[in-house]
Amino acid sequence: MAEKRDYYQVLEVGKNASADEVKKAYRKLAIKYHPDKNPDNPEAEGKFKEATEAYEVLSDSEKRQRYDQFGHAGVEGIVGGSGFSGGFSNFEDIVGNIFGDFEDLFGFGSSRSQQGPKRGASLQYTLAITLEDVIFGKTETIEVPRHEICQECQGSGAEKGSTPQICPDCHGRGRVTSSTGFLSVSRTCPRCQGEGRVILSPCQPCHGAGLIRNVRKLKVNVPKGVDTGHKLHLRGEGEAGGLGGPPGDLYVVMQVEQHDDFYREGSDLMTVAKISFVEAALGTEIEIPTLDGTVQLKIKPGTQYGDKVRVGGKGVPYPRQNIKGDLYVHIEIGTPQRLSDKETELLTQFAQLRGESGSSPDDGQANPFSKLKDKFFSHQNK
Ligand SMILES: [Zn+2]
Ligand SMILES: [Zn+2]
Repeated sequence: MAEKRDYYQVLEVGKNASADEVKKAYRKLAIKYHPDKNPDNPEAEGKFKEATEAYEVLSDSEKRQRYDQFGHAGVEGIVGGSGFSGGFSNFEDIVGNIFGDFEDLFGFGSSRSQQGPKRGASLQYTLAITLEDVIFGKTETIEVPRHEICQECQGSGAEKGSTPQICPDCHGRGRVTSSTGFLSVSRTCPRCQGEGRVILSPCQPCHGAGLIRNVRKLKVNVPKGVDTGHKLHLRGEGEAGGLGGPPGDLYVVMQVEQHDDFYREGSDLMTVAKISFVEAALGTEIEIPTLDGTVQLKIKPGTQYGDKVRVGGKGVPYPRQNIKGDLYVHIEIGTPQRLSDKETELLTQFAQLRGESGSSPDDGQANPFSKLKDKFFSHQNK
């Protein structure tokens, strides 16, 4: 820490300055460096503290005399010290008091800062919906536990017919001042917690809190096309505010449940259809379920395992738009695991026709049926 500057220098007054001149000088500096006017400015705060300390000494004739005689040593331990091991760590409290002289000027601040309306907290509600809900939209009634203004006392917390009284300890200021020797210390009033008012006969239903816990039923319109993590913002449906403040908001967060047969990629859907290797070779037409009715799906001759067939417009709606994504059907091809003698004979002939070795078609390949599906669905199981 830098060496302490001379108090007269700090206040920019002469050694013979009158009490009035000291006061004026401090007033000038205090206005200039007040923390309210210089938020997050440590330099200004330092100057403000320095000026305040100088004023504390030079405005007190006894302290000023000791300072004139012995310098800083003469007032050491009593300046900003009493009861504060950390010096000005409780700075706000000290200046709150010194400014008793200047309250007309600042009209602030620290003595009343804890009063006034408080906005209620915002709430978050997670709503689980199905993929079908995403496609068709949904109106859901949700139950949200929250605090609401007590109807009995209209939020005042005071029994019907009574009103909160001005706090007798702080006379409504929200702060109380206690004196330790010559140093006065102002702090938040413990009786009213800084609110300046106390409730002498509390309201029964809310026990004086002014708020009551309630479960609010709300209708929520889930728009088509939403996805996990999307939030609906319901203004004013959060916790009630304090002291007449506005309520907070409610955020309904969507959580789309995993579907057994359809996997979502943005606005497209993926699904898997199984056909036999003969159908894959010859081509066929199969019926597949979608989330919006069944469709006939043409399988081209020569279809390979893993080919995907697009079904337009059977995916998920784009949010706030009148179009839908597509459905992609991934084809799995089943290889028979047991063949009759006749089938073996025919397949062997078939292989010979194609110049293949003719070895048994079920020579040890594991069942491939679920492999493709696993591929698509594995990354859903996070
Ligand atoms: Zn009440
Ligand atoms: Zn009080």
